[in-house]
Amino acid sequence: MTDLDEYSRKARAWLAGHPAPADPSVSDARALMAQLYDAGYSGITWPAEYGGQGLTEAEERAFQQATRDVTLPINVFGIGLGMCGPTLVSIGSEEQKRRYLRPLLRGEEIWCQMFSEPGAGSDVASLQTRAVFDGEAWILNGQKVWTSVAQHADFGLIIARTDPEVPKHKGITMFVIDMHDPGVDVRPLRDMTGQSHFNEIFFDDVRIAPDQVVGEVNGGWSAAVTTLLHERVSIGMGSARTDRPAAYENVAATAREQRLLEDPIVVDRLVDLYLRERSFDLLNARMSQEVKAGIFPGARGSVIKLLLAELTLYSADVASEILGPETVAYDSEENGKIARALAWGPGMALGGGTNEIMRNIIGDRVLGLPREPQVDRDMPFRLLKVGTQKEAEA
Ligand SMILES: Cc1cc2nc3c(=O)[nH]c(=O)nc-3n(C[C@H](O)[C@H](O)[C@H](O)COP(=O)(O)OP(=O)(O)OC[C@H]3O[C@@H](n4cnc5c(N)ncnc54)[C@H](O)[C@@H]3O)c2cc1C
Repeated sequence: MTDLDEYSRKARAWLAGHPAPADPSVSDARALMAQLYDAGYSGITWPAEYGGQGLTEAEERAFQQATRDVTLPINVFGIGLGMCGPTLVSIGSEEQKRRYLRPLLRGEEIWCQMFSEPGAGSDVASLQTRAVFDGEAWILNGQKVWTSVAQHADFGLIIARTDPEVPKHKGITMFVIDMHDPGVDVRPLRDMTGQSHFNEIFFDDVRIAPDQVVGEVNGGWSAAVTTLLHERVSIGMGSARTDRPAAYENVAATAREQRLLEDPIVVDRLVDLYLRERSFDLLNARMSQEVKAGIFPGARGSVIKLLLAELTLYSADVASEILGPETVAYDSEENGKIARALAWGPGMALGGGTNEIMRNIIGDRVLGLPREPQVDRDMPFRLLKVGTQKEAEA
């Protein structure tokens, strides 16, 4: 048995000994993170001096494989672990790493990521939330939207306009902000799954100390790209861990239960779904091998993110086509899961960058095809008529 096999065996044994509660709350998730941390399974590849384990991607993947068959209800930490933490590891100051990384890994502090605004989603560089330096602190005003888990968050990474006189990508700065500041107003939004996965947030004269700038002042665009690259890889490759309710096994089992497998069209659709899932899993495995070998996927993370979104939508489609109205008028836990997958699918094609934007990135940066035209790229932001700015001045 190799060291890695032994590592996997221990991880499986640990996970089996720590079953998730039936209806886990945020405090259950915090407690589970603390247990994972104490057992050495939180921040497996993060630097040891900031609370990580300092191990390799091989152990990380082995642990993720071990979690495939169990429920690990720590989604509320997903943004912190998958995006904010890795951004701080890459470009945070020494003080920021020392202050924030360990409590994140121990489940003491929840993080959110505030990029999107009502007038700036795909074109996030058009953002209008502003931070002005008053000689002592940055004063933040504006609005963000679609911010996942903000209703539970203690800290967040935010990007704000700090210089409107330069082109839009050049006058943005990234900050850490305290989500408990009285000037931060978080309002949950209900989505079509019936739950509140994300929020709108209003900022009213929030004071940010200069040492909370992440990276360089006005260098926030490259900081944001760092976060987004981590986000796409984390969403796409993290999918091994998530429970895909409309996955082949679930849909096929329900079709069998309902005696639908005699229909050759149903069988054809199931085979197609199976093949797409296998292709996705194989690409995922290949990228994991590359990561293990020290090759970060970079813009190619958009490929896996796009394929996961398409697979999620496709599997929900196949499920509803085969199972018919049962899918929404459900009376069993299994059909209920598929109904939720149907309602959740479209969100996968938006969050972390839309399918169209993923295709643009793949064309521009993976395949080297001609770039999308960007007529406003070199104009000072102040002169642009974008989003709510356009409405305000109309
Ligand atoms: C579940 C979920 C969680 C999210 N969590 C967060 C979060 O935690 N933090 C955060 O900051 N944001 C979050 N978002 C927001 C997400 O990043 C945005 O929804 C996304 O970037 C798209 O922006 P938009 O909604 O403003 O759509 P728009 O940008 O207005 O796009 C509308 C449509 O136009 C298309 N389009 C736009 N530009 C182009 C182009 N150049 N070429 C071709 N087509 C184009 C888009 O593909 C889309 O179909 C979340 C979204 C979802 C659904």
